[in-house]
Amino acid sequence: MKTARYLGLLVVSTFTLSVCSLSVWAQSLKDTPHAKKALEIYKTVIEIPTVAGRGKVPEMAAYLASELKAAGFSDEDIRIIPSGETASLVVRYPGDGSANKPPILLLGHMDVVEALDKDWERPPFKLTQDDKYFYGRGTIDNKFGITMLTATFIRLKKAGYVPNRDVFLAFSGDEETGMETTKMLAYHTPELATAEFALNSDAGGGDLDESGHAVAYLVQAAEKTYVSFELTVRNKGGHSSRPRADNAIYELSEALGHIKQYHFPVRYSDMTRAFFATSGKQMGGELGAAMMAFADNPNNQQASDRLEQESSFVGTTRTTCVATMLRAGHAENALPQSATATVNCRIFPGVKVKEVEDTLRKVVKNDNIEFVILGDADESPISEPREDVMAAVKKAVHARYPDVEIIAYMESGGTDGKHFRKAGIPTWAISSAFMNPDEMFAHGLNERLPIKAFYEGLDHWTIILTELTQPQ
Ligand SMILES: [Zn+2]
Repeated sequence: MKTARYLGLLVVSTFTLSVCSLSVWAQSLKDTPHAKKALEIYKTVIEIPTVAGRGKVPEMAAYLASELKAAGFSDEDIRIIPSGETASLVVRYPGDGSANKPPILLLGHMDVVEALDKDWERPPFKLTQDDKYFYGRGTIDNKFGITMLTATFIRLKKAGYVPNRDVFLAFSGDEETGMETTKMLAYHTPELATAEFALNSDAGGGDLDESGHAVAYLVQAAEKTYVSFELTVRNKGGHSSRPRADNAIYELSEALGHIKQYHFPVRYSDMTRAFFATSGKQMGGELGAAMMAFADNPNNQQASDRLEQESSFVGTTRTTCVATMLRAGHAENALPQSATATVNCRIFPGVKVKEVEDTLRKVVKNDNIEFVILGDADESPISEPREDVMAAVKKAVHARYPDVEIIAYMESGGTDGKHFRKAGIPTWAISSAFMNPDEMFAHGLNERLPIKAFYEGLDHWTIILTELTQPQ
């Protein structure tokens, strides 16, 4: 009964989208209780500086918890899990169980990258706006996602909606730094461990061109493994007036020359082939043809060689490793006692870090080179897109931008999603934001979100969740 009433409401809003002129419905969207609540949450969370070291994440988690409680979520369904100076927030939206399926997780992170007042044109920890954008740290990454998910839970709860299975918010508190809260959520939180899949608010989304036309909607379905190696050559050194054939800098340079020449073998999956098929068609021209040829037959070397020349696409065809830093020698008049290079690799899902290290060791053709891995590498599998999820995303996206292509892609790495994938929970990132990639200032100065993207995206998660959890 309550569900039916809710659905009526949704149908009306979808109808409004299709018949009114843009400015009229944009204005009417701003006046809904859902829009007002979303803006209030957005403003409040942006004004809590949840930067690593400031200990403010628990305050933000408590605020979100209080909003959810006020909307009708019970105490036992809300859990703030402290972790050092930060915290995670887990909220269960209890379903009626009629789907007989495990829970769905919704991911976001409450922390943000540091932002210094003196560097910004506007105060970073205050929500400000002009006629086109909202400004502030986290307006995109990821307080926008947190806001949309929280507001959607509140909206659905208040409308009396009961999903046919449990849905959880799982918000981490240090995604931008150590990801300890993420690991805790992904590996050590029993109520989340049985989830069938997760939807992440922290990546994916629609691309607009300069004139505001939708180009594509991207679903992040995989992340490459990020790992850096330090390669060091040591030498006894000596006086530079007495050069010898053995020399740490020359040896390291030769090793790097070999790495430069080396091409990792082509890799692909159903997802990357579909990516090239769809984006190749859109791209057109000679490059588009190469993309489609690769999609058709990834063993087509002419096609893969062509894609390797494109910095935007090479990473989708194979593992890449590239020299990024150097340090060597200790005095201009001494033979170097050591030379060290940093080589950063983005490893194709399914390939082990060890395998890449072994390959590099062979490639450099010098057994005296020491290899050290910097930090931890988290290997995560591809989450091949599944039909029900893609259909729900399609419905939400096409409500705003009919006919826009929906393309699953692989990211070079860096969201909470990789830990959930590693834990065996397929994860797709599907932000509601549509924007021009050139407007993206996440992590940088003057982070912003088009105001239009905020209001137009208000139904995104509602449509997706109700599609996936609608009782029959
Ligand atoms: Zn983020």
